[in-house]
Amino acid sequence: MRWSEHQIAMLREMGVRVWGAPAEEEAPAFAAMVEETVASAPPPDPSAPPSHAPASPVGTLDWPALREAVAACTACKLCESRRQTVFGVGHTQAHWMIVGEAPGEQEDRQGEPFVGKSGQLLDNMLRAIQLTRGDAAEPAHQVYIANTLKCRPPGNRNPLPDELAKCEAFLIRQVQLLQPKIILAMGAFAVQSLLRSTEPVGRLRGRVHHYQGVPLIVTYHPAYLLRNPVDKAKAWDDLCLAVETARPAA
Ligand code: URA
Repeated sequence: MRWSEHQIAMLREMGVRVWGAPAEEEAPAFAAMVEETVASAPPPDPSAPPSHAPASPVGTLDWPALREAVAACTACKLCESRRQTVFGVGHTQAHWMIVGEAPGEQEDRQGEPFVGKSGQLLDNMLRAIQLTRGDAAEPAHQVYIANTLKCRPPGNRNPLPDELAKCEAFLIRQVQLLQPKIILAMGAFAVQSLLRSTEPVGRLRGRVHHYQGVPLIVTYHPAYLLRNPVDKAKAWDDLCLAVETARPAA
């Protein structure tokens, strides 16, 4: 495929090396070449109690009340080890919603999703398609970023099924309030929560799914891409599919 100069510049933003284009910098060495998979992720536990059952009417809350409910949540043990909850960031009328996994150490310190290394890559990826988490742009160029878990799992371990189940109502309400035009589900746990699927990301990407009637594109988690830069080209394809899908019909 031939790339225009504009596309080459965008791919460079993402750190993707473009064949045939003059090299700007060396791509980082990549470690594991193993495709991201949810094989190690436990499937949702069907015997787990329903998340936020009637006593907690999360589904009726507005943005400020929802943020407060998250900040006060003690539904699972993660509340004992968190510094603070990480609610979400971005314009509440953003057309794009990005769903990640869970806060890491930096996010737990700063209270904002994706502020560590994978956040820098995410921002570069978004910039490549003219999107921003800042609020200077119009909603069509804005993203809202949230995680499946609002609290950091200790030592950045994987989310547990009961933690995902207990936190789910918050994410559902965020989607309801935001009403995005497109959702980008990044990584196995976002997929597991939103699509109820334990299929590997690599098998779910490349087509349009739906969540609450909103088109949803599956792609790799930025942390996975940092370990496996060879797959950044596929993530670029996913972004292009998302742009195509989000574009209003002419
Ligand atoms: N990884 C995520 O999935 N979310 C964050 O907020 C940070 C890292």
